[in-house]
Amino acid sequence: MLPRFRRVVPHSSEEALVCWRELGGMFCAGGQALLMEMALGRRVPDVLVDLSELEPADVAARDGLVMVDSLSTLDSLELRPEVPPLLRAAARSVGFASIRSRATIVGNLCHGLPTGEMSLALVALQGAVHGVLPDGTATTKTEDSIFSLRPVGDRSELFIRSVSWPRPDASTNADFYEVGEQGSWQPALSVATMLTPLPDGAATVSAAVGLRDGGGTAHLEFALPADARAGHLRELVVGAIRVADGLDCGRLSDWVTDVVSARVAETRARPGGT
Ligand SMILES: Cc1cc2nc3c(=O)[nH]c(=O)nc-3n(C[C@H](O)[C@H](O)[C@H](O)COP(=O)(O)OP(=O)(O)OC[C@H]3O[C@@H](n4cnc5c(N)ncnc54)[C@H](O)[C@@H]3O)c2cc1C
Repeated sequence: MLPRFRRVVPHSSEEALVCWRELGGMFCAGGQALLMEMALGRRVPDVLVDLSELEPADVAARDGLVMVDSLSTLDSLELRPEVPPLLRAAARSVGFASIRSRATIVGNLCHGLPTGEMSLALVALQGAVHGVLPDGTATTKTEDSIFSLRPVGDRSELFIRSVSWPRPDASTNADFYEVGEQGSWQPALSVATMLTPLPDGAATVSAAVGLRDGGGTAHLEFALPADARAGHLRELVVGAIRVADGLDCGRLSDWVTDVVSARVAETRARPGGT
């Protein structure tokens, strides 16, 4: 059963900001995480600022940046050609179709799982999260601060409005993969990667890694020399494991190596795989 709370339903972003400033409480977007946490007694906000009546703005692409309304549902990203494959693949990995039809980008960012798909994809894309503080001051979060958007208490700390990222080069190769399952014997690990080829045959890699069950998150950037191109996925996995080691999960390395090597072999076996 849900605890008692007051619900306000603003009809514009400006109204939402005023409600939050005057009443406090937490924003509720799709409700797919927050209402469950409230039912379990993990959150007890006295006010919910329900954003479900706000219509997400269209995707905007200009000056080399793509900007998406943070209230866009995860399944709506499939219909947006401007949204890069990495973000769409990450969105597809969240829960089930029925969850994705209501869950939003911002809700996934603020739910705060280390394996949270939107956070990992956005960090790998070198993107940004844009919002305002209660006094209306604009704030932008980038890099590791994107991993820390979950509010500590029962009051939202930021009103997040949009996310943006540099439009990837057409030659960029992106992937999102998950191994393990929450709560099972296999620790859950998610990796979002962006590989950008350089003219000399080398490539740069931006990877975001999240590990649950006592793990954490990290952003990794490294260069792959030209002669490592053919084996780039393996290099990437080695890099991911190095990050996991840095997160004090070194004992998992053998297991991760086995599981991810199998995944690399699968990818290579697919038409067009490397
Ligand atoms: C069966 C099931 C499977 C799931 N699978 C996954 C999964 O694979 N990966 C995963 O990460 N999550 C998963 N979830 C959790 C959750 O559904 C998703 O993370 C989802 O994206 C939440 O989005 P929402 O819009 O429903 O967020 P809500 O529940 O509305 O809100 C979540 C958080 O975002 C905050 N928030 C909402 N709007 C704003 C705003 N504009 N500004 C600031 N803060 C805001 C809320 O205050 C709250 O803290 C799952 C949930 C279920 C029930």
